Parts: sequence; C-alpha cells; structure tokens
Amino acid sequence: MTDVFADLVGQDEPVETLRRAAEAAARVVAGEQVAAGAMTHAWIFTGPPGSGRSVAARAFAAALECERGGVGCGECHGCHTAVGGTHADVRFVVPEGLSIGVNEMRALVLRAASAPSGGRWQVVVIEDADRLTEQAGNALLKAIEEPPPRTVFLLCAPSTHPDDISVTIRSRCRVITLRQPPAPAVAEVLARRDGIAPDVASWAAAAAQGHVGRAKRLANDHEARGRRDAVLAVPRRLTGVGACFEAASALIKSAEAEAAEAVAESDAAERAALEQALGAGGTGRGAAGAMRGAAGQLKDLEKRQRSRATRSKRDALDRALVDLAGFYRDVLVTTLKAPVPIVHTDVAQQSGAAAGKWTAESTLRRLEAVLACRDAIDQNVKPDIAVEAMMLTLWRG
Ligand SMILES: [Zn+2]
Repeated sequence: MTDVFADLVGQDEPVETLRRAAEAAARVVAGEQVAAGAMTHAWIFTGPPGSGRSVAARAFAAALECERGGVGCGECHGCHTAVGGTHADVRFVVPEGLSIGVNEMRALVLRAASAPSGGRWQVVVIEDADRLTEQAGNALLKAIEEPPPRTVFLLCAPSTHPDDISVTIRSRCRVITLRQPPAPAVAEVLARRDGIAPDVASWAAAAAQGHVGRAKRLANDHEARGRRDAVLAVPRRLTGVGACFEAASALIKSAEAEAAEAVAESDAAERAALEQALGAGGTGRGAAGAMRGAAGQLKDLEKRQRSRATRSKRDALDRALVDLAGFYRDVLVTTLKAPVPIVHTDVAQQSGAAAGKWTAESTLRRLEAVLACRDAIDQNVKPDIAVEAMMLTLWRG
C-alpha cells in the first residue's frame, strides 16, 4: 500500500508541510527537542469543495498516530485505524445538521484534554468548521488558546474568510491551503486507485471540475449521470415562461429526490437503533417514565434528521447549479476562444451552438444568474423562488 498522503491529488506543497510537521511531532513523542513552530497544535485546512480538505486532515491525523516515526506509512496499526476512523485517539466531528452546537463542542474539548491512550496524540478533526455556532467557536477557542500538551485540532473549512472561521480562531491556527486539483491529476487517481477506465476517468474528472469525490461518483453511478444529463438539458429547454417554471420545478424535485435517497437509509437505521436501545414496548415499574424519556429522545432524533435532510437537499441543489454554471462558462470560453479546456465535453456541441447565438454579455448575465441563485439559497432565500428567478434570466439572457 502507498502512504497515507497518496490520495491527495496535485497538492505537493501542502503535503510536504504536513510531512515535516508529522516528523517533528514524532520527535516530540520520542522526547526530543524540536524547533519552536516545527509542530503546531491547531490547523485549518481550506480549499474549494472536493479539493480534499478532510482527506488531508485524515492523512495528517494518521501520520501523527503512525508508529514508524510519523511518516504515515499506511501500513502500521496507527495509520490503519486513524484512516479507517476507529483509532481511539482520533475523533471526527461531522455536523449532520446546519451547525455544530456548543454542547457538542464542550464535550469534545473535554475529551480531547485527556492523555492519548496510544501514547502519541489526541487528534480532533472538525469537518465543516464553518458550521460552528458562535458559542461553539468560543468553546473551541479556549481549547486552542491553551492546548493540552498532546492535543491537536484539525479544522476543515471552505475558506478562511471571517464568515467561515472567526478571525481569532484563525490567528491561532496554521493554515494549509489546498488548490483545486487539475483534471488530469484527478483522472490519474481515479484510474490508479479506483480502477476506472482511463477515458471514463478523463471525462468524469473534467465534468466534476476538480472535485475528486464527485468525479468518482459520475464515473460509477448511473443515476448521478442521469441527473447531470437532465441538468445540462435545461438550457435548451427554456423556450418560454411556462418552460422556465417547469424547469425550475423539475430541478428542485430532482434535488429533493436525490437528497431523500441519500438520508433514507441512515434515518431508518438510526431510528431502529434508538428504539432498540430504549427497549420499545417495555412494561412494568418505571416503564411509563421511561416512555416519556424515550419520546423526548425520539423527538431529538427526528429534529436532527430533519436538519440533515435540509442540508442534504441544499447540497444536491448546489451540485446541480455548479454543473449548470459549468455549461455557461463553456459557452463563454467558446465565444471568447479562451485557451482553457471546457468542462462538459459531452455537450460541447450544445455549448458551441449557444456560443454562436448569444453575445458574450448575455452569456455572462446567464452565468451570473446561476451564481446569484447559489448565493441566494446560501442566504436562506426559498429555493423555488431563487431557482425560478434564475431560469427566467437564463431564458431571456
Ligand atoms: Zn504508519
């Protein structure tokens, strides 16, 4: 097996930084002196979606737990369990709803302060750290300001913009910036790691716009491809106001269906597990009180699941909008004869035809309408309203 950093596509510089820090960390564990700043207790991993923020954080966590001098060999028990998510000293916080609350964060900080059971590091990986509530952020900040000697916090966020990560937290972290990997590098990893045929890998890597996970999905998942085809058919369907509303409604329904499918299985499994733990249908002394408590726990679970469903719906819709933006970008690239590769090679004929019909200005207005729609949804505008407004602009130009 290759080492733990092998799946970080096209990120040579960040990987080098992480390797050096992990080696310094191993020397700390061995009781040696290291230069100040050689190892840091708090890190932020940023970069565009799909660039591998959480992959990088996970790889670094594994290197910290690696039993062979912090190289992240990928073969020892420490590497294996850290990458697999079962290492006793590595915790992953993955928010299921729209935010990470203060209680969750306090519990985490408390546990992170204990001595690492494996004798190396306590590692806390916070995915989507941009979803920390303000209070949760403050609880985390306290831990980062005075970190326990063997605790490391790894935060993943789309950017270090103050909207995403508070300036105070950022100022106490070392920042690892990942870039959007070039399509050929993504295609290479799909072929090497996942055994995908090279021509399919190249197409999927371009269509996914540097998003490794999305590329893999497009290459393997028939339904994901079908949904993408439907999105890319939108521009030529917009022939009038009625068609715009139909297209908007179809786009949202498709995102909802995709999201429902994504959460249905885990929802049912969680509910079954909770009901079993609560011993559904118990009788005898105390059963009435237990049932009241059980009702509360089920309510909590339902609330968490609703919040996750909302997020899943937004994510699905956003993916569709990114595909759509790619199409208008391709039209613009073709109109301007820009020397960059197009994203959706399989509908190059359609984007080429549109380039012959529209002016650069009107294409740009369409592209901006898609981006404005993403922003609006991000700002909590109701999706159907935002998408309908977008479709009308896409039609009129
Ligand atoms: Zn190892």
